[in-house]
Amino acid sequence: MASVDIRQVRKAFGTFEVIHGIDVDIGDEEFVVLVGPSGCGKSTLLRMIAGLEPISGGEIAIGGRVVNMVPPKERDIAMVFQNYALYPHMTVFDNMAFSLKLRHAERSVIEQRVRQAADILDLTKYLDRYPRQLSGGQRQRVAMGRAIVRDPQVFLFDEPLSNLDAKLRVQMRTEIKALHQRLRTTSIYVTHDQIEAMTMADKIVVMHDGHVEQVGTPLELYDRPVNLFVAGFIGSPA
Ligand code: ADP
Ligand code: MG
Repeated sequence: MASVDIRQVRKAFGTFEVIHGIDVDIGDEEFVVLVGPSGCGKSTLLRMIAGLEPISGGEIAIGGRVVNMVPPKERDIAMVFQNYALYPHMTVFDNMAFSLKLRHAERSVIEQRVRQAADILDLTKYLDRYPRQLSGGQRQRVAMGRAIVRDPQVFLFDEPLSNLDAKLRVQMRTEIKALHQRLRTTSIYVTHDQIEAMTMADKIVVMHDGHVEQVGTPLELYDRPVNLFVAGFIGSPA
């Protein structure tokens, strides 16, 4: 089970508070999208869930366990970033194997996990290639492969598609959703793109200036936005 419970979470950089006490409950196997304008605190919240940024107040629990003091490596989480820098001098196989090697996994386990991930992501034919020999979509899949080899319970995505062209973006949305369903993970997906949020989410969290404006299904937000900000952001009903 990998629910993620965010309770009264705050974040200040020095004296400047950027997250002002956020509450969100994310259910096991849910695909939740955090959406909001640039600078509203989406990446900061995601980084706190991953443990890459200490939290200034409140609690984050993963699978019922409070993880405030748990280092990133010991959280059952993998993150896919917008600038998913692949290692240019490593093959696709080695890029995907890297985090397992860091954790001293056995060779046979590494081989099996990487091959399985490559199969799921349709990368089997490309395992010996280098990143520069791949298309944008293939590179994006390798980035996801690096995340899934560890078999995490929770996937965190930070605007993973914003560097891709429009057509590929639409295709990758579908692929990411399919992956989520196949692996039965809990996914938290950050975007500033309303369309992406509306098409991908089981549940949307609309953020604004470090707080949550509304949480709901795409239909609920569309039909019953609680205020003008949400209505304007999601696109008010005709
Ligand atoms: P988003 O991902 O929604 O665009 P961020 O989480 O990146 O927003 O940023 C939220 C706010 O926190 C912004 O005002 C940003 O300038 C500030 N911020 C983010 N990281 C730092 C940091 N390391 N030091 C100081 N301020 C930061
Ligand atoms: Mg961001």
